[in-house]
Amino acid sequence: MNKKTVKDIDLKNKRVLMRVDFNVPMADGKVTDDKRIRAALPTIKYILEQDASLILMSHLGRPKSASDSEFSLRAASETLSSLLGSPVQMAPDCIGDEVEKMAKALKPKQVLMLENTRYHPEEEKNDLDFAKKLASLGEVYVNDAFGSAHRAHASTEGIARFLPAVSGFLMEQELEYLGRAVANPEHPYIAILGGAKISDKILVVETLLSKCDKLIIGGGMANTFLSAQGLNMQDSLVEKESIETAKTILSKFADKLILPVDAIIADKFDANANTQTVNVNSIPTGWRMLDVGPKTIELYKKELSNAKLIVWNGPVGVFEMPKFAEGTFALAKMLAESKAITVIGGGDSASAVKKAGVAKQMTHVSTGGGASLEFLEGKELPGVAALLDK
Ligand code: AMP
Repeated sequence: MNKKTVKDIDLKNKRVLMRVDFNVPMADGKVTDDKRIRAALPTIKYILEQDASLILMSHLGRPKSASDSEFSLRAASETLSSLLGSPVQMAPDCIGDEVEKMAKALKPKQVLMLENTRYHPEEEKNDLDFAKKLASLGEVYVNDAFGSAHRAHASTEGIARFLPAVSGFLMEQELEYLGRAVANPEHPYIAILGGAKISDKILVVETLLSKCDKLIIGGGMANTFLSAQGLNMQDSLVEKESIETAKTILSKFADKLILPVDAIIADKFDANANTQTVNVNSIPTGWRMLDVGPKTIELYKKELSNAKLIVWNGPVGVFEMPKFAEGTFALAKMLAESKAITVIGGGDSASAVKKAGVAKQMTHVSTGGGASLEFLEGKELPGVAALLDK
């Protein structure tokens, strides 16, 4: 990685301002999944070991105003405190006189959690006065919030203009593993894309095709490609406006693309629908494809058997409904058993490997859905670009 990390900068006795991704799921004022908080622990612990004091900031949800107390980071700070086994102070806001006093009074190894940066609309506008106020709280800026790095906000981009800015370990790990997929991939490199629509993923299709040896396309996206090949997909989700694009991609990359050969089809889009298994060229009137079929799963097995690198983004079926989850879970298990480096782009694929119980067997599961997709598209993420080069 060509960006400086916490290891490349002197943190001794410094006041370190760190952007974390504590945008955690909550219910009844409690954190229901602490994965993102745990993911920040290695960097937090390392900083505290340097006798630095630590000020943490994050966004949480989409509050409309600062009186939206359901978006407070207090519960997250309590979860962090119990994970660390030491107190975490909670600030009443993320800027202002009182917060400044609390930040300046911190002793080495003490932690202060700032309130939700999105309580201020200036955060999302990347307002530089606001970024400067945030920056005034610390002496060094650390960004460990990969999941927010695709957004140029005050706490992810603007702030880096006022302080020496480096990455944390989580950010470093994300960039290293996702970086392999776009920079120097091991071969054979097989990419897998699924999800609902190709219009959202057209850029990533093109970037992946220029790097990988084979691209497996499943999910709703595959329907548009099959339709572009002249098949009648009946009531399947097909994006008519993307058919021409799909045709162009097919004509350029026919030998690289792997499309489903059979399907689990349903008579309605419903968890209790009637189902059949058919070849993709035999979908009856009124039915729709909601998962890939067993022959396609066999095809995936064959294609993945020699892979050295596998990158996966997006489910190959409507995996939220058990009747249409088999393809996605079978794929998750194949990746778990593979000797290849396996990289899972966040979002739905991350939750699919978790649901399949194989998340730990993956080389890397990204914490950022949108950020990992933009990274795989080959875009430079503003929150990464803002960090100091090595
Ligand atoms: P995306 O946000 O584009 O990654 O899409 C994820 C969604 O695609 C999931 O909620 C899946 O249920 C959905 N999906 C996957 N396969 C299909 C399909 N064959 N038809 C309709 N939706 C699908």
